[in-house]
Amino acid sequence: MVSSEGIEKLIRSHLVTFGGYAASTSPETLKGKVEIPVENIIKLDANENPYGCSPRVSQALATYPYLNIYPDDGQTELRELLAGYTGVGAEHIMAGGGSNQLIDLIIRLFVGLGDEVINCVPTFDIYRFSTEIHGGTLVEVVRDENFAVNVNAVKAAINKKSKLIFLANPNSPTGNITPQKDILEIVDTGLPVVVDEAYYEFSGETVVPLVSQYDNLMVLRTFSKWAGLAGLRAGYGIFPPKIADYLLKIKIPYNVNVAALVAVQESLKDIDYLQGRVKAIVAERERLFGELKKLKFLKPYPSQANFIFCSVLNGKASELRQKLQSKGILVRYFDKPLLRNGIRISVGKPEHTDALINALQEIGGKMW
Ligand code: PMP
Repeated sequence: MVSSEGIEKLIRSHLVTFGGYAASTSPETLKGKVEIPVENIIKLDANENPYGCSPRVSQALATYPYLNIYPDDGQTELRELLAGYTGVGAEHIMAGGGSNQLIDLIIRLFVGLGDEVINCVPTFDIYRFSTEIHGGTLVEVVRDENFAVNVNAVKAAINKKSKLIFLANPNSPTGNITPQKDILEIVDTGLPVVVDEAYYEFSGETVVPLVSQYDNLMVLRTFSKWAGLAGLRAGYGIFPPKIADYLLKIKIPYNVNVAALVAVQESLKDIDYLQGRVKAIVAERERLFGELKKLKFLKPYPSQANFIFCSVLNGKASELRQKLQSKGILVRYFDKPLLRNGIRISVGKPEHTDALINALQEIGGKMW
């Protein structure tokens, strides 16, 4: 038998001190820690869709008869459907249980022990998470004061060990867009580049039509945000066909479950409804931005996604997050120097904005 201390000698050494990923808080874990009933918590911390999914999804799932049968491992129908939605051929598509799974899979495909991954920080932490799990080394290229990507610094960071470049567009948690010419300048380096368009439906900016012109450009998308399917885990990527084939080969079998498949099918039959919700969220984002701007202790940054990043100018962001949480409003705080004492607020329904602004005014008056 191995003693509990002995286990460190057996697991992969780089994972002994591995930092993990700080996921968002689930409301059920806050029972007794907030001033209101858990079911009334306003969850603005994970960029989920406040309107939920299409009603067609719930109806179809309630009567779906084949839960006992494995899904099609080759994703044939799913890839065709996604081809229809994105306007590329099905040979370019590959789906995953959330786009997080595809990030991990891409890193498995390209990155070995000691290889380097270029990351434009601050950005989505899963790129670091999966790179480190697979034994790669993260090379961080810092964004400028407006969180714009420093293209020259990205190019200067490339060396023989570089295997992959990540670009979230819009970036998370900052919400800004990288201009297409900057993306293409990075793609022209020839290294495999992942453009993560998780928030595409809110920004309208995409490089998907360009994927067929490059053999090193990959684009990731998700149904978690615009289609309200975060709980079902459905993401996909648009790849050069050769890369899609490799990813299909190395994925675990049946990686997209049948509930997610049904949900994607139904969502794509209800695009107009879902786009209406996206429009409402974008309009609410602009109202929220205006309201946040009026608060002297916050500096909101313009966003093309379904969230707004704010620097806290007076006091500690961690304390502000905590005070909001005790009032039953969850926002995201990142304990990272590059994130300038900031919080990220997901755009909710108009009543969520009202409750948040009231709470911020109240806290602001007492704290500072
Ligand atoms: N990329 C970015 C930039 C994100 O912010 C997120 C969600 N937090 C994801 C990918 C992952 O989304 P999914 O739910 O599809 O795994």
